[in-house]
Amino acid sequence: MPRPSLMPLPNVAQQTTAIFGSYVLDGSHGGQRVLRDHWVILEGDRIAAIHPSRPAQADHVIDTPGRFVLPGLMNLHNHCFSEAIARSHAEDGAGKKNDQSIVYTVLLPLSKTGLDVLTPQERLDVARMGITQLLLGGATSVMEPFRNSLPEMFTAAEELGLRFWGAPYLFSAADPKAGNDGVEYNTTSTTGRDSERDLTQWKALYDRWQGKADGRIGLAMSPHATDTCDPDLLRAATAMARELNVPNTIHVAQSAGEVKTIGARYEGRTPSEYLDWLGVLGPDLLAAHCVYATDNDLQLMQSKDVTVMNCPRVFSRSGKTAAFGRFEAAGLRVMVGTDGYNMDLLGELNAAAMISKVAAGRPDVATAPALISSVTEAGAQALNRPDLGHIAPGAKADLTVIDMAHPHLQPHYDPCRTLIALANRSNIDTVIVDGRILVSGGRLAVADAQALTRAGSAAIQKIWDQPEARDAFASS
Ligand SMILES: [Zn+2]
Repeated sequence: MPRPSLMPLPNVAQQTTAIFGSYVLDGSHGGQRVLRDHWVILEGDRIAAIHPSRPAQADHVIDTPGRFVLPGLMNLHNHCFSEAIARSHAEDGAGKKNDQSIVYTVLLPLSKTGLDVLTPQERLDVARMGITQLLLGGATSVMEPFRNSLPEMFTAAEELGLRFWGAPYLFSAADPKAGNDGVEYNTTSTTGRDSERDLTQWKALYDRWQGKADGRIGLAMSPHATDTCDPDLLRAATAMARELNVPNTIHVAQSAGEVKTIGARYEGRTPSEYLDWLGVLGPDLLAAHCVYATDNDLQLMQSKDVTVMNCPRVFSRSGKTAAFGRFEAAGLRVMVGTDGYNMDLLGELNAAAMISKVAAGRPDVATAPALISSVTEAGAQALNRPDLGHIAPGAKADLTVIDMAHPHLQPHYDPCRTLIALANRSNIDTVIVDGRILVSGGRLAVADAQALTRAGSAAIQKIWDQPEARDAFASS
């Protein structure tokens, strides 16, 4: 099969772009204010102005009525690779064994096998397919934890123009398996732990990629989870993250098995207490899932200004409630991410609203303004990046534009409520990062999405054809 070749990204450094919004979510005065019939003017990679009248001239003009111009949406917890492997295999309880989380029976083992059998070009094909899905799903900024043998994620993000925090995993044992007493450490190193090797590899990727593509590409520290990282590794990773001033992200309390394992290993501590004991909790931490966290754990994390990454749909798949509203009620900063399950960020926000309302038994939780903030302002705070997550002069020129004229979004009275209650990825019209138009008219503008998808799917099929994959997905 011929490989798709990618065009270089356009240079917009000296260019201006003017975008008309029937609605513009203006953040110049703090908070959210919807302006009617305004123009957003971009100069190079920055927002220059928000103006009621059409500019006299601009290099690019996007002037279509019915558009809602939003700050670039931030999807800060996603897995392109492991979830591509699970896609359509793990639904309806398929692949679930002994009631264990598929994290340990499918996602971790098969992503390891998959990376072993694919060529670098095939890994790049999967990465490009994933970045394509993320962009078409409306994201301008993504944080992506992945195994450190998949550096092609950085390449694909650079090529396709996404703002990207790659988070190569650190494990105390790189091949964790679900044993009878929780996760067993099966190290691939001869020293008993893989920690040191993973930290060295993480640092090599940092040296190679941090700040690349005019600062669009960066790294996050990424110890995998509480039950796959021992205390020494968590202390060392956190110290390195703080020294290098990069965000830190980890999976926390994502399964009952993890809670049991940590309690047995560390004198009854919960996963959150384990992290607190090691000094990991802080405003630089993005803690994914926390579904099995106790109310006390949530209070602890709130007191340390931790950000919780809520990915409701991947838990719905397993019949588990992951309610945004529960974290919101605890006063935590909460972001919604897609976890790779379905990279439709608007659809995920809708699910976050619905699941929270059902869980709370009331409609006034997980409201539209809170959910819009969870993928804009909350991300800017979590990453300490005040130039992201809002439309204001001087901010980065990252925008997500929605087609509110679409028949299934009409009629509407409040565009924010319509966005959360009714919209999904098919309403994404334009995605702009650093002033570059990456998605236009709902189509990928910088590459042939069909060709990238065909190549990525073929690579995943190669993994599905492995005996380990057939065993993992066989019904028990
Ligand atoms: Zn995850």
